[in-house]
Amino acid sequence: MGGADRLAGARVVVAGARVAGSSAARVLLERGASVTVTDSSPELLDTLRVSGIAVAPDLTAPPEGTDLIVTSPGWRPDVPLLLAARRAGIDVVGDVELAWWLDQVRPDGPADWLVVTGTNGKTTTVGMLESMLRTAGLDAMACGNVGLPVLDAVRAGHSVLAVELSSFQLHWSSSLAPRAAAVLNVSADHLDWHGSMTAYAAAKGTVYAAGTGTAVINADDEWSVRLAESGAAHRSVEFTLGPPEPGMLGVARDSLVDRAFGPDSAGVVLAPIVDVAPPGPHNVSNALAAAALARSVGVPAMAVDAGLRSFTPGGHRSIPVGEHRGVRYVDDSKATNPHAARAALLAHQRVIWVAGGLLKGADVDELVAGTVDRMAGAVLLGADRAVIADALARHAPDLPVRVVDSGHDGAMKEVVAAAADLARAGDVVLLAPAAASMDMFTDYAQRGRSFAAAVVALTGEPGR
Ligand code: ADP
Repeated sequence: MGGADRLAGARVVVAGARVAGSSAARVLLERGASVTVTDSSPELLDTLRVSGIAVAPDLTAPPEGTDLIVTSPGWRPDVPLLLAARRAGIDVVGDVELAWWLDQVRPDGPADWLVVTGTNGKTTTVGMLESMLRTAGLDAMACGNVGLPVLDAVRAGHSVLAVELSSFQLHWSSSLAPRAAAVLNVSADHLDWHGSMTAYAAAKGTVYAAGTGTAVINADDEWSVRLAESGAAHRSVEFTLGPPEPGMLGVARDSLVDRAFGPDSAGVVLAPIVDVAPPGPHNVSNALAAAALARSVGVPAMAVDAGLRSFTPGGHRSIPVGEHRGVRYVDDSKATNPHAARAALLAHQRVIWVAGGLLKGADVDELVAGTVDRMAGAVLLGADRAVIADALARHAPDLPVRVVDSGHDGAMKEVVAAAADLARAGDVVLLAPAAASMDMFTDYAQRGRSFAAAVVALTGEPGR
C-alpha cells in the first residue's frame, strides 16, 4: 500500500503519541482513515482522545484488518508491534513518508524538498538553509527531526521545505525523491537502534537513492562520498573545506566560493568566512552544504551571504557564555558524540577540554589522538569519566587532567573552578562532552545551562 489516495477508508495504526505521531493521527483522520494510536504512556494517549481517534495502550500486534502502520521515529524496528506487522505483511512507514505522499497530491503542486541528514550538523545546516531561502524571498520552512513535523509544514502549504531527517526517519521513508539532498557526514552513532554501522549509513544514503534530484556530497567525508557513489542522483555537487575544483563549492581566499552553480568557471564568491557563526571549520562545512542546497533552487549569491549573517545559531552549539581573566568559556553541550566533540575542539587553538557523561559504548581514542595537540588541560565528569581519563593517559601522559567525582548538585561548579585553575589567558574552556548527558542531567540543554551558570558564578557577571 502506498500513496495518499489509498488512505480513505484504510485502517491505520499510529505507533507513538508524541509530536510526530499526533500530527500523523490528525492528518490520517482528515483523509478519511480509521485511526488507532498506541503508546506506552496513558498520559500521552489522553491528549489524543478526540472524536474519531481510537487509543490502545501498548499494542504488541496490529489489530485484525490493519492496512498500514505509521510509526514515529523513536520506535525501534524490533519492537513487538512492528515485528508482528512485518510478519503479517502489513506496510510500516514513518510520518515523513506519509508527509511525502500527501505533498504529492497537494492541489497547488508539491513543495521542493531540500533534505539534510548526517551524524552531526543537521540542525545548524537546516537553520542556515532556511535563512538563505527566506532572504531570497522564498516561502521556506525548516522542518523535520527538530521542531515542526514535516507533515505540518506540508499542510501549511510552504513551497520550499528545508527538511532535517534523522537516520530513524529515513529508515521508514522509501518514496522520498528530494529536489536536492545532502549527507553531511557519517560516524558511529545510534548503532543500538540500527544494528550496525552499515545499516546506519545505508539509512542516511537513501536520500541519494531516488535519482531525480541533486546529490550534495561532502568531499571531505568518506561515507558521504561512498553513499553518493551507490546512489543514482540526477546531478551531483561536492563541497570541501579546500579550494573548489570546477563543479564544487569550497573555500578560497577566506571566502565560500561556488564553482558549481554559477555561470563563471572561476567561481562566484558567496560570502566571507567571517560571516559564518559560530566560527570553526565544521560550521564552514555546514554553511557550504546549506549554500549548495540553496543554490540548487536558484538562490543568488547575495542571499547566501545575507542569510548567513542573519542566521541565529541554536543554543549549546559552540556558544560563548562568558570571559574571565582573558579565558573564554564556550558551551558546546550538544557535542554528544566523539565526532561532534572533535569538530568543536578543532575550532580553537588552545583548549581546556570539559568532557564526560554517557559514551554509549563509543570509542574516544581516535578523538583524543586527533585533538590532544590543541589541549592545555582537561576536566572530566560523568559516568564514563574514567574511560576518557584512560585515553588521555595513553595519548597525552603529561596533560594536566582533573577528574570530578560527580553526581552531586555542585559538580559543574567544581568542574568550572578546576578548568579556570588550569587555564591561562588566551585559552578557551570548552564544554564538548563527547557523551550524552542523562547520567547527571535531564538533557544536553540542562547540562549546558548548568555550565553557563557556573561560569556566571565564577565571573560574577550575567551570562551572554
Ligand atoms: P545535529 O542536528 O545533527 O545534532 P547540530 O547542528 O545540532 O547537529 O550540531 C550538533 C553538534 O555537532 C554541535 O554542537 C557541534 O559540536 C557538532 N557539529 C556541528 N556541525 C558539525 C559537522 N559538520 N561535523 C562534525 N560536528 C559538527
